[in-house]
Amino acid sequence: MKEQKKKRWSDYLWIVELCYLSLGLFNILFAWLGMLFFCIPLFVAIFGGSKAYCNRYCGRGQLFGLLGEKLKLSRNVPPPKFLRHPLFRYGFLTFFMIMFCLMLFSTYRVFTGAPLSQTVTLLWVFRLPWHWADVSFAAPWIGQFAFGFFGVMLTSTILGLITMVLFRPRSWCVYCPMGTMTQGICKLRNGKKVREYGSSGKENRGPAEAAGE
Ligand code: SF4
Repeated sequence: MKEQKKKRWSDYLWIVELCYLSLGLFNILFAWLGMLFFCIPLFVAIFGGSKAYCNRYCGRGQLFGLLGEKLKLSRNVPPPKFLRHPLFRYGFLTFFMIMFCLMLFSTYRVFTGAPLSQTVTLLWVFRLPWHWADVSFAAPWIGQFAFGFFGVMLTSTILGLITMVLFRPRSWCVYCPMGTMTQGICKLRNGKKVREYGSSGKENRGPAEAAGE
């Protein structure tokens, strides 16, 4: 019989992801907390040279895994080859970063006096009115960033859910911009080691590669 792996606290970080998404619906300013999901993986990759965040601490990846595997919401078939292709992954990262910069620019415009836009943009096209959010107690640019950033987080969640249903549970990890960035950083940082030993080690493979196997 298969031995049950002992659960660690880090196996429950999917709850943090769920709380984050719910808190954002309750009060849009909680969207700012999502900066942690942006900064921590980058710090781990830059200073630690590993994809430990993806491999162990990413609540989003865990959530897709749980929905796909435990709730059987995934067709569980390999993702198409193009998703894994560096051209697509780096192209998607570039597109994602351009949209992120445009979001920062909107925040800057509000900072310099433009009116606050109380909308959350989904999939970069659909602007949902979000008028129930009370952001009057914060500076308008703080509210604008929260609306923009929550749109980014919801958009990546929707894309992740769609690819989870269509392919393997964690297929989002194959082209996740954070995964692509941290993998690139690890490759640059550990390049010397890779050349020395001929392999970057299991720790640095990350779900991006594993999901497509
Ligand atoms: S690739 Fe993205 S979603 Fe997947 S584990 Fe890494 S950061 Fe999380």
